[in-house]
Amino acid sequence: MTKYIFVTGGVTSSLGKGIIAASLAKILQSRGLSVTIQKFDPYINVDPGTLNPYEHGECYVTDDGAETDLDLGYYERFLNIPTSQANNVTTGKIYQTVINKERAGEYLGKTVQVIPHITDEIKERVLLLGQANQYDAVITELGGTVGDIESLPYLEALRQLRWELGSDNCLVIHLTLIPYLKAAKELKTKPTQHSVKELLLAGIQPDILVCRTEYPLNMKIRRKIALFCNVQVGDVIEAIDAETVYDVPLLMLREKLDTTVIAKLRLQDKNEPNLKLWKRFLGKLKNPLSEVKIGLIGKYNELKDAYKSIYESFILAGAMNECEVIVVPIHSEKITKNNVEEKLSELDGILVAPGFGERGIEGKLVAIQYVRENKMPFLGICLGMQCAVVEFALNVLNMEGAASVEVEPTTPHPVIDLMEEQKNIQDYGGTMRLGAYPCEIQKKSKVYSAYKKTRIDERHRHRYEFNNKYLKEFKEGGMMPTGINPDTGLVEIVELKEHPWFVGVQFHPEYKSTVENPHPLFVEFIKACMNK
Ligand code: GLN
Repeated sequence: MTKYIFVTGGVTSSLGKGIIAASLAKILQSRGLSVTIQKFDPYINVDPGTLNPYEHGECYVTDDGAETDLDLGYYERFLNIPTSQANNVTTGKIYQTVINKERAGEYLGKTVQVIPHITDEIKERVLLLGQANQYDAVITELGGTVGDIESLPYLEALRQLRWELGSDNCLVIHLTLIPYLKAAKELKTKPTQHSVKELLLAGIQPDILVCRTEYPLNMKIRRKIALFCNVQVGDVIEAIDAETVYDVPLLMLREKLDTTVIAKLRLQDKNEPNLKLWKRFLGKLKNPLSEVKIGLIGKYNELKDAYKSIYESFILAGAMNECEVIVVPIHSEKITKNNVEEKLSELDGILVAPGFGERGIEGKLVAIQYVRENKMPFLGICLGMQCAVVEFALNVLNMEGAASVEVEPTTPHPVIDLMEEQKNIQDYGGTMRLGAYPCEIQKKSKVYSAYKKTRIDERHRHRYEFNNKYLKEFKEGGMMPTGINPDTGLVEIVELKEHPWFVGVQFHPEYKSTVENPHPLFVEFIKACMNK
């Protein structure tokens, strides 16, 4: 039977529930257990797809086209298995389902209420991933902090599930903070006691406390936490600040989080944990032999989370190359013809980020012209690829006024045009071309040397595409479509013939980088930067 593990958070937000959940899943996986993770978000948006990146960081995309919370990126990077629509649920999605059922008359005239209808729907979603008996354990991360009004229905659903499934099959890990008071030179347990009390008010006694802390927790303080929070001393797990998030699985292993969970749930573990590959990766990550500086040109640079998967892809692919990648965020709105040299010349390569709308486009075009002419390695992702096409049209093919229709609806040369299937769509939520699509790669290309195969599947999130009416001119001019969707003819990849490494991709390689499989395009791009 599938076991259910919940991760709740107390005291403050941003304690890293996603990383703890992913770390636990990783160690359990390394013991031969099959595990997946899902995230429940208490906001009313149906999914984060329409959220401004400044609000909630990057929107992560799964193979089956779900626009999800960025924590799913960690789940995939750690576990090296894909997530899906079912792995991210929001309050909006729950309510939408319940209201649709009500409209369809499924509640047979009953008054529809938070309890039982909303909580039942939450419970159903929690159990969904376990239904096929494919997993030994399903870890559910509850977003938000206990005590938030919007978290209440989730806690009630959790309380009921625990009662229904029994404590052998369902376990609650509460992530909390043990702050250090400098003036008193002391770690303080009171906020944790209060947050456990908050959980108890909802009828939930946590089984394990994972305590975020800047300093080690000695036995005395562990005992105190255990006594006042009603758990065993061994159930108090120290989660000390780590150098990187990739250290956390090993820290959790040292604290025996895995064996504690296994014992409580009577899980049949198969092997001793085998984290050999993980340790090898960490070894390379921490002992780089070289260093490159790569400019990340985007418009949400104030918030690192807005480009989370790109940053992480650099870390993973950098480690593979035993090279430290120093990412230099550059705001596209600040790049002009006059300062581009000064801003870019010291860098080893440039990545132009995905994005929407016209803000910052001008600076991206200026930067791309610079790297094209100066033969600097370039990777353009989605909007970054579209900008590379526009820049080429303007400055090489001399198509005056060429633009993407997204930026200039009346352009005389719509080299990037709205996709046919998008033309009649009015709603914003979940309506882009989303998820995995196939791409056929030409053998004589930079991307073939990266992937070493001709058929790939990559994830998408866009409304506009390369306009095939201009294909001939681009080819003749030296911008080659080296990757094409075999079913629709949509240009997925462009490369420059006369350039050491200039690649634009319509898809998002960053969503498919994992610790065990860093993305080949990032690996090759970094190599090109190292050779510059
Ligand atoms: N705005 C562009 C489009 O919709 C690019 C999207 C992106 O970069 N993800 O096609």
